[in-house]
Amino acid sequence: MRASLDHVIEQLKRAKRALIVGHVRPDGDAIGSVAALTLILRKLGVAAEGCIPDRVPWFYREIPGTRILRTVEEIRGRKFDTAIVLDSSDLSRIGDAVELLPREEPDVVLDHHVTNTGFGALNFCDPDYAATAMIVHEIGKRLVPYDRELAEVILLGIATDTGFFKYAAVDDRTFAAAAELARHGARIQPIASAVLEHRSPKTIRLLVEMFRTLRIEAGGRLAYAYVSAEMLRRTGCDEEETEGFVGEIRALHGVEVAILFTEWPEGEVHASLRSKSYMDVSRVVRALGGGGHPRAAGCTLKVPRLQDAITRVVEVTRSALLEEVL
Ligand code: 5GP
Ligand code: MN
Repeated sequence: MRASLDHVIEQLKRAKRALIVGHVRPDGDAIGSVAALTLILRKLGVAAEGCIPDRVPWFYREIPGTRILRTVEEIRGRKFDTAIVLDSSDLSRIGDAVELLPREEPDVVLDHHVTNTGFGALNFCDPDYAATAMIVHEIGKRLVPYDRELAEVILLGIATDTGFFKYAAVDDRTFAAAAELARHGARIQPIASAVLEHRSPKTIRLLVEMFRTLRIEAGGRLAYAYVSAEMLRRTGCDEEETEGFVGEIRALHGVEVAILFTEWPEGEVHASLRSKSYMDVSRVVRALGGGGHPRAAGCTLKVPRLQDAITRVVEVTRSALLEEVL
């Protein structure tokens, strides 16, 4: 059922033991919005646990509020009366955390993906919000007083999902929310530093390796590269260290669509797609079983060879790009 924010708030107030979950391969919005809603519900006296069903990349821990996040293992066996799923367009996005849900269907789903399937009992999904953390902020400011810890995790979600306030979805509401959060003590500098300036020498070596695989097609409008399992092994990097790499490909002048293929774990290839100004990449990945936003989307393919995934995704993207031009 599609719900209003008032409706969602009523449901949240009834919770006694709440589970808040984000998606696998978490980004700053999943991490920030889950941490924020957990802090908000705890301020209301709810026994709330925030769970990310995958390892949280280490650099997010520099933002204090993210340290309340738990793994599935850490809260397995705990009983919850309410489950809230954030920033996830379908139930498969929460991975193993599905086993923690008290019922098959989450009680509340809050999201901003155009591809959201409406899989909760109550669904509030609005792609006009630049980040799920913006939705959490709308809820939080009606319910609790803010402190720096809370304001900062919300700002983390907004900043990361807007590319630090540079994507097309950024408007006066985004800046107004950021200003409100700054007034409550949130600082953008430690967030930017943690998220954008955490690369180690081995990550840079992996980035160099990635750029060796760069291909440019469609008259310069499509650029793609890959990180293979072997490259990860050779450089001693984890898959999470490829965060931000696809943005480096999009940074090429004239490129409209950038794709990064990451082969991890072996037998699986994740394609991250980014577009610059007109191409709807969420439409492209939908045909491949993925999801996301018009300018940032992804899909995971189970294929024996990395090259099989590359051929398939590039083919679909190339024809979508050509259609766009005609
Ligand atoms: P990324 O490319 O950074 O993994 O993800 C970009 C956007 O697409 C994010 O909003 C993410 O939630 C979404 N996304 C990435 N992979 C998938 C997928 O396999 N399925 C769905 N539904 N969404 C995805
Ligand atoms: Mn998001």
